[in-house]
Amino acid sequence: MKDDCIFCKIAAGEIPSNTVYEDDSYRVILDLGPAARGHALILPKEHYADIYELPDDKAGEVFRLAKKMAGRMKSALGCDGFNVVQNNGEIAGQTVFHFHMHLIPRYENDGQKIGWTPGEPSQEELQETARIIREEN
Ligand code: AMP
Ligand code: ZN
Repeated sequence: MKDDCIFCKIAAGEIPSNTVYEDDSYRVILDLGPAARGHALILPKEHYADIYELPDDKAGEVFRLAKKMAGRMKSALGCDGFNVVQNNGEIAGQTVFHFHMHLIPRYENDGQKIGWTPGEPSQEELQETARIIREEN
Protein backbone atom coordinates (compact mmCIF):
# COMPACT_ATOMS: atom_id res chain seq x y z
CA MET A 1 0.00 0.00 0.00
CA LYS A 2 1.29 3.43 -0.98
CA ASP A 3 0.91 6.05 1.77
CA ASP A 4 -0.33 8.98 -0.27
CA CYS A 5 -2.54 7.00 -2.66
CA ILE A 6 -6.28 7.63 -2.40
CA PHE A 7 -7.22 4.44 -4.26
CA CYS A 8 -5.06 2.36 -1.87
CA LYS A 9 -7.05 3.85 0.99
CA ILE A 10 -10.40 3.29 -0.74
CA ALA A 11 -9.48 -0.27 -1.72
CA ALA A 12 -8.45 -1.00 1.88
CA GLY A 13 -11.74 0.40 3.17
CA GLU A 14 -10.03 3.26 5.04
CA ILE A 15 -11.98 5.80 2.99
CA PRO A 16 -15.67 5.01 2.45
CA SER A 17 -16.88 4.26 -1.07
CA ASN A 18 -19.96 2.94 -2.80
CA THR A 19 -18.70 -0.61 -3.11
CA VAL A 20 -20.49 -2.91 -5.56
CA TYR A 21 -18.13 -5.88 -5.26
CA GLU A 22 -15.27 -6.94 -3.00
CA ASP A 23 -13.01 -9.94 -2.60
CA ASP A 24 -9.54 -10.50 -1.09
CA SER A 25 -7.74 -8.82 -3.98
CA TYR A 26 -10.18 -6.30 -5.50
CA ARG A 27 -12.76 -3.69 -4.65
CA VAL A 28 -15.16 -2.35 -7.29
CA ILE A 29 -16.60 1.08 -6.48
CA LEU A 30 -18.89 3.59 -8.13
CA ASP A 31 -17.02 6.48 -9.76
CA LEU A 32 -17.77 9.82 -8.06
CA GLY A 33 -17.92 11.56 -11.43
CA PRO A 34 -19.73 8.98 -13.55
CA ALA A 35 -19.94 9.12 -17.33
CA ALA A 36 -23.26 7.32 -16.96
CA ARG A 37 -25.35 5.64 -14.27
CA GLY A 38 -23.43 2.78 -12.70
CA HIS A 39 -19.96 3.84 -13.92
CA ALA A 40 -17.66 1.74 -11.73
CA LEU A 41 -13.94 1.31 -11.14
CA ILE A 42 -12.10 -1.94 -10.49
CA LEU A 43 -9.37 -1.29 -7.93
CA PRO A 44 -6.75 -3.91 -7.09
CA LYS A 45 -6.04 -3.81 -3.35
CA GLU A 46 -2.32 -3.82 -4.06
CA HIS A 47 -0.73 -0.69 -5.48
CA TYR A 48 0.34 -0.76 -9.13
CA ALA A 49 0.61 2.63 -10.80
CA ASP A 50 -0.47 1.51 -14.25
CA ILE A 51 -0.64 -1.30 -16.80
CA TYR A 52 3.15 -1.48 -17.02
CA GLU A 53 3.47 -2.27 -13.32
CA LEU A 54 0.53 -4.67 -13.25
CA PRO A 55 1.78 -8.27 -12.94
CA ASP A 56 0.76 -10.64 -15.76
CA ASP A 57 -1.44 -12.84 -13.55
CA LYS A 58 -3.28 -9.76 -12.25
CA ALA A 59 -3.94 -8.60 -15.81
CA GLY A 60 -5.87 -11.80 -16.48
CA GLU A 61 -7.71 -11.56 -13.16
CA VAL A 62 -8.75 -7.97 -13.74
CA PHE A 63 -10.26 -8.71 -17.12
CA ARG A 64 -12.10 -11.76 -15.79
CA LEU A 65 -13.55 -9.55 -13.08
CA ALA A 66 -14.47 -6.91 -15.68
CA LYS A 67 -16.41 -9.57 -17.58
CA LYS A 68 -18.20 -10.75 -14.44
CA MET A 69 -19.15 -7.20 -13.47
CA ALA A 70 -20.28 -6.35 -17.02
CA GLY A 71 -22.76 -9.24 -16.90
CA ARG A 72 -24.04 -8.28 -13.47
CA MET A 73 -24.30 -4.60 -14.31
CA LYS A 74 -26.11 -5.26 -17.60
CA SER A 75 -28.71 -7.33 -15.73
CA ALA A 76 -29.00 -4.90 -12.83
CA LEU A 77 -29.06 -1.66 -14.78
CA GLY A 78 -30.51 -2.68 -18.14
CA CYS A 79 -27.83 -0.77 -20.04
CA ASP A 80 -27.78 -0.83 -23.84
CA GLY A 81 -24.00 -1.02 -24.24
CA PHE A 82 -20.80 -1.17 -22.20
CA ASN A 83 -17.37 0.46 -22.42
CA VAL A 84 -14.31 -0.95 -20.66
CA VAL A 85 -11.70 1.81 -20.42
CA GLN A 86 -8.28 1.85 -18.83
CA ASN A 87 -6.05 4.95 -18.95
CA ASN A 88 -2.27 5.00 -18.52
CA GLY A 89 -0.29 8.23 -18.25
CA GLU A 90 -1.45 11.81 -18.05
CA ILE A 91 -1.63 12.24 -21.83
CA ALA A 92 -3.99 9.26 -21.96
CA GLY A 93 -6.27 10.77 -19.33
CA GLN A 94 -5.00 9.01 -16.22
CA THR A 95 -5.58 11.23 -13.19
CA VAL A 96 -5.21 8.71 -10.35
CA PHE A 97 -1.95 6.81 -10.50
CA HIS A 98 -3.17 3.56 -8.98
CA PHE A 99 -4.17 1.08 -11.70
CA HIS A 100 -7.92 0.98 -12.25
CA MET A 101 -10.32 -0.17 -14.93
CA HIS A 102 -13.43 1.82 -15.82
CA LEU A 103 -16.65 -0.13 -16.31
CA ILE A 104 -19.06 2.21 -18.07
CA PRO A 105 -22.63 1.12 -18.77
CA ARG A 106 -24.02 2.95 -21.78
CA TYR A 107 -27.61 3.95 -22.49
CA GLU A 108 -29.41 5.11 -25.60
CA ASN A 109 -29.26 8.92 -25.59
CA ASP A 110 -26.82 9.12 -22.65
CA GLY A 111 -25.10 11.92 -24.54
CA GLN A 112 -21.60 10.61 -23.82
CA LYS A 113 -18.80 10.25 -26.35
CA ILE A 114 -15.88 7.94 -25.67
CA GLY A 115 -13.63 7.93 -28.67
CA TRP A 116 -11.13 9.59 -30.93
CA THR A 117 -10.83 11.28 -34.27
CA PRO A 118 -9.72 8.62 -36.77
CA GLY A 119 -6.42 9.34 -38.52
CA GLU A 120 -5.73 8.62 -42.19
CA PRO A 121 -2.31 6.96 -42.35
CA SER A 122 -0.94 5.65 -45.63
CA GLN A 123 -0.44 1.91 -46.15
CA GLU A 124 3.34 2.54 -45.87
CA GLU A 125 2.94 4.24 -42.49
CA LEU A 126 0.72 1.42 -41.21
CA GLN A 127 3.19 -1.21 -42.42
CA GLU A 128 6.16 0.62 -40.86
CA THR A 129 4.34 1.04 -37.53
CA ALA A 130 3.35 -2.64 -37.54
CA ARG A 131 6.95 -3.64 -38.25
CA ILE A 132 8.34 -1.51 -35.38
CA ILE A 133 5.91 -3.03 -32.88
CA ARG A 134 6.29 -6.59 -34.19
CA GLU A 135 10.08 -6.45 -33.91
CA GLU A 136 10.04 -5.21 -30.29
CA ASN A 137 10.24 -7.84 -27.57
P1 AMP B 1 -8.61 8.16 -14.60
O1 AMP B 1 -8.86 9.49 -15.22
O2 AMP B 1 -8.65 7.02 -15.55
O3 AMP B 1 -7.36 8.18 -13.73
O4 AMP B 1 -9.85 7.90 -13.66
C1 AMP B 1 -9.95 8.37 -12.38
C2 AMP B 1 -11.41 8.30 -12.01
O5 AMP B 1 -11.51 8.24 -10.61
C3 AMP B 1 -12.25 9.49 -12.48
O6 AMP B 1 -13.30 9.00 -13.31
C4 AMP B 1 -12.76 10.10 -11.18
O7 AMP B 1 -14.08 10.55 -11.29
C5 AMP B 1 -12.66 8.94 -10.22
N1 AMP B 1 -12.42 9.28 -8.83
C6 AMP B 1 -11.47 10.10 -8.34
N2 AMP B 1 -11.52 10.10 -6.99
C7 AMP B 1 -12.51 9.26 -6.65
C8 AMP B 1 -13.05 8.83 -5.40
N3 AMP B 1 -12.58 9.28 -4.23
N4 AMP B 1 -14.07 7.94 -5.41
C9 AMP B 1 -14.56 7.48 -6.59
N5 AMP B 1 -14.08 7.84 -7.78
C10 AMP B 1 -13.09 8.72 -7.81
ZN1 ZN C 1 -2.48 2.92 -4.57
